[in-house]
Amino acid sequence: MTPAQETPRSICVLGSTGSVGQSTLDLVARDRQRFVVDTLTANSNVELLASQAREFGARHAVVADPAQYNALKDALAGTDTEAAAGPKALNEAADRDTDFVMAAIVGAAGLEPTLTAARRGACVALANKECLVSAGTVFLDAVTKAGATLLPVDSEHNAIFQVLETHNRDQIEKIILTASGGPFRTWDMDAMRAATPAQAVAHPNWDMGAKISVDSATMMNKGLEVIEAFYLFGVEISQLDVIVHPQSVIHSMVAYSDGSVLAQLGSPDMRTPIAHTMAWPQRMAAPSPRLNLAEIAQLTFEAPDLERFPALRLALAALQTGGAAPTLLNAANEVGVAAFLAGDIGFLDIAAIVEETMSRGVARGLAAAPATLAEVLGLDREGRSIAAELVRTHR
Ligand code: NDP
Repeated sequence: MTPAQETPRSICVLGSTGSVGQSTLDLVARDRQRFVVDTLTANSNVELLASQAREFGARHAVVADPAQYNALKDALAGTDTEAAAGPKALNEAADRDTDFVMAAIVGAAGLEPTLTAARRGACVALANKECLVSAGTVFLDAVTKAGATLLPVDSEHNAIFQVLETHNRDQIEKIILTASGGPFRTWDMDAMRAATPAQAVAHPNWDMGAKISVDSATMMNKGLEVIEAFYLFGVEISQLDVIVHPQSVIHSMVAYSDGSVLAQLGSPDMRTPIAHTMAWPQRMAAPSPRLNLAEIAQLTFEAPDLERFPALRLALAALQTGGAAPTLLNAANEVGVAAFLAGDIGFLDIAAIVEETMSRGVARGLAAAPATLAEVLGLDREGRSIAAELVRTHR
């Protein structure tokens, strides 16, 4: 610990039982003098939440599902951890006066608590990309108004954040997001049509939660990330590029007017970008495997295939269209991914449902950009309801 950081940082982990949440706590466990765990939250995994709260001596543990309150309370018996449940308690958790908030809830469910943290001017490490996709301007306005600090956790955005020269903003030519291509990078359409949830979540490089793993398989994840980058870095849409890089060693790049291209490299382990946000503006040790470039030997690149991966095309189109489109896209995708994981629809149906939701949304006059949280949530509900109808017809 450096002299400037003698007081441990108090942290709140929204979504502590998930993949990003667990990696965050893994880093805390390795540097306990540096952090104090104030608040942990989960949706329904009470057993893991309570065991994390015990291990880290958390002051508060919140489960979003109100039906799990008694189970959480029982599981925390004999500890000093206060239990709470329900959406209101989740927002209160984000509103607690902690030094750092890891926003790692999956999907638009994370929007309200993350926005609450932003509105109190917190230092927010943002893993929950759906939050920015769904509520872009509303979220950014809240960040600016409250003077909150937003640190990107997504490995691509964290890489860009590390190599983006803010003093040379007008000299940036391109931001180039790398994509692994996911487990189906080389599959043909027939094979993808028959793909199972187990195959879709088996990412070749990254170990992640189910939703983002399916998003990587459809490449919707890269589309969501382009939208996220648009909001985070304030560049023109035409300055955002995607390149497929199957080794996931280069996490993204920024190209400047003098021809320099700056990249951040590392092994595909989320603990590196998470550690970067937790220690920022300093650095801290992370146990991620070290890069052995001689062993990797080759870094390869290819253009994304928008025919085989229509989800990426749809996300890029939604960004171009703007207005209500990104919110609808995100909502439809969440419904489609959940239905695919539940075995209700096929893999290719996910993008088909997103596309049809977008056109039905236009037909219903859903075009204007949401200007408030209530409007974002209303649009999100509309998108989900259209997509849910479509899931029934695809069954
Ligand atoms: P997981 O599915 O592993 O974890 C999600 C977390 O959110 C869990 O703690 C879960 O609780 C909680 N949660 C789920 N639904 C709700 C809800 N309705 N209300 C409150 N809490 C809820 O997701 P990941 O960790 O993989 O991803 C989290 C976010 O980070 C996503 O937005 C993802 O896109 C982003 N991200 C993830 C990366 C990764 O490597 N995993 C990389 C880059 C970004 P419970 O366990 O009880 O269900």
